[in-house]
Amino acid sequence: SAKASGRGCYSIFGPHMDALVRERAEIERDLRKALSDLSQFKVFYQPKYLAESGEMGSVEALARWQHPTRGMISPVYFVPIAEEAGLIRELGRYVLEQACRDAARWPFETVAVNVSPVQLRDPGFAVDVMGILSRTGLLPNRLELEVTETAWMEECEECSTNFRALRAAGIGIALDDFGTGFSTFGRLHETEVDHIKIDKSFVEGLGADRGDEAIIQAIVELARAKGLKTTAEGVETEAQMEFLKRVGCDELQGFLYSEPLSGEEVDRLLAGRPDRRLPRLSIV
Ligand code: C2E
Ligand code: MG
Ligand code: MG
Ligand code: MG
Repeated sequence: SAKASGRGCYSIFGPHMDALVRERAEIERDLRKALSDLSQFKVFYQPKYLAESGEMGSVEALARWQHPTRGMISPVYFVPIAEEAGLIRELGRYVLEQACRDAARWPFETVAVNVSPVQLRDPGFAVDVMGILSRTGLLPNRLELEVTETAWMEECEECSTNFRALRAAGIGIALDDFGTGFSTFGRLHETEVDHIKIDKSFVEGLGADRGDEAIIQAIVELARAKGLKTTAEGVETEAQMEFLKRVGCDELQGFLYSEPLSGEEVDRLLAGRPDRRLPRLSIV
């Protein structure tokens, strides 16, 4: 085994894997350092447009890490490291606080913030969120937390307690990447969810004859029957947009409309608009 081969020898993974392990350790160290002053983190906002009116109804906060030498690192990479290294609570608080502060001055109905399952298991999570809302002055019903379907399925006492407290306060819950977790369909009746975000893998498959049309249609119908709002993520083409509008999806989000924007870009988009009117698309 790797252990028996002793010090100085490469592990069974070989040199390439060792390089990856070393890189990962370096990034964890940098992440720890970056979290002590937070200046390398930014929160970007991707608009969500109401399918019917074309209005920019809300935004989703997405974390960004501007690493001093490696450039912009995706949350797909650093969120799992933060989770494993016990840093997600701090990172999550930062994103929430920044998003709530920004949203408090914006006219959107809601701001959505992604939450990791590790945060949901933290017995102090709901209290943290309430503290952030009161510090930033954002009303609880203007905050929505995006939780992946898989995280939401978890049988966990702390998670349930957090969900109950958050919902009692009026905070919205959206199931993110919906349709990828397989088993939620049957449990939606007992849900305490407000909103479903259809995973972009289904949107991507539209027109590819994989049955994704039927899946999306079923999700939208189910959501409507339950009184839940639907958003499609990852909308990149007009053909996808047309289909999603036709089946009655409520909100559309994706590169077709806008990439995630910095807070300053959102400020500029809103500047000079009378009566806090929302930007509207001509394309929808
Ligand atoms: P998500 O919440 O499902 O967010 C959607 C991801 O798809 C975002 O990537 C977004 O930039 C990207 N996207 C948006 N429109 C399109 C499109 O039209 N086509 C394609 N191909 N992609 C599109 P991003 O920002 O890299 O975030 C990835 C994931 O990282 C998020 O998935 C979310 O699960 C997680 N994440 C982001 N920010 C945070 C955070 O603050 N906390 C936690 N716990 N997770 C976060
Ligand atoms: Mg999300
Ligand atoms: Mg999503
Ligand atoms: Mg997704």
